[in-house]
Amino acid sequence: MQNKNPTAVIALGGHAFIRKGYRPTHEEHQIAARKIASILMELINRDYNLVITHGNGPQVGNLLLQNEHSPEEIPKQPLDVLVAMTEGSLGYIMQQAIINELRRRGIHRHVVTKITQVILDQHDPAFKNPSKPIGPFYTHEQALELQENHNWEMAEDSGRGWRRLVPSPSPLKVIQRHTIKDAAMQGHIVIAAGGGGIPVVKQIDQKTGDFSYVGVEAVIDKDLTSSLLAKQVGAELFIILTDVNRVFINYNQPDQKPLGALNIEMTEKYLDDGHFAMGSMRPKIEAVLDFLQSHGKRALITSPENLSKALQGVDGTHFVGTI
Ligand code: ADP
Ligand code: MG
Repeated sequence: MQNKNPTAVIALGGHAFIRKGYRPTHEEHQIAARKIASILMELINRDYNLVITHGNGPQVGNLLLQNEHSPEEIPKQPLDVLVAMTEGSLGYIMQQAIINELRRRGIHRHVVTKITQVILDQHDPAFKNPSKPIGPFYTHEQALELQENHNWEMAEDSGRGWRRLVPSPSPLKVIQRHTIKDAAMQGHIVIAAGGGGIPVVKQIDQKTGDFSYVGVEAVIDKDLTSSLLAKQVGAELFIILTDVNRVFINYNQPDQKPLGALNIEMTEKYLDDGHFAMGSMRPKIEAVLDFLQSHGKRALITSPENLSKALQGVDGTHFVGTI
């Protein structure tokens, strides 16, 4: 039975599962998941229907590294499968931590993780311009070899070595949107679209004109997928948790200023004025704007530690849509 509670979509940053400076061990993931689970209880206590999304950068990076180790013995897996693997592993760890926290508090709600496929446009120009560095660092020599033998696009990454670049096209549709929404509206806590979702495109059969979904070598920005999902499940509130309490203008400059509350027009202006860095804060702001422009009511960017204060309105950066 569907309830009448508002739905919140909450996106967890890539480092939510690993504390700064720690290795991504299973124990570390469990510690981080326990912490997130207890923070999420703020939203449970406020009777939100909840959809949780999360990043997977460090975890998928390690799977890519594993791929390189003994390819003769263990066949390499493509990127779409690796994303599915992290949705499964992080979903399980998160799910277990939330179930345990709910049990401790005597709250009767169910938790489910959805393996989530996200449709991309195969003609998206991003496929011709790989832009997202992923996985291990290589020497210049190795990079040339990989370029030659695997047809990988390689680029130097901020003086740290050479990395593989993959396309990062815009997400069009979440295939599992209906089951995610149905489960959330029944009060089940849903973990979905981990790592931005599994990238798939429609492959048309030239003879019949029919199509099949096929996985592709790409990664999808988790903030953009989260806002798409927030729209598709009719969320009222969209929260992005990252490692800053607030969004700033003139970030990292002597006159930096934290932002408290913004409407769509102010947000657009600051975005146009270049206050939000590409690849980090900019996609979050774009995701928030996309949500608000499609009738989303409220969005919030803050850190996990400050979620409670932000929900009380005394911290975080709040965004309001047109009412
Ligand atoms: P996540 O894993 O949560 O997606 P990111 O590193 O991609 O984290 O994005 C968060 C980072 O964005 C912050 O740590 C901060 O360094 C950076 N950032 C860039 N521009 C701004 C800004 N204008 N205000 C606040 N943080 C910003
Ligand atoms: Mg990010």
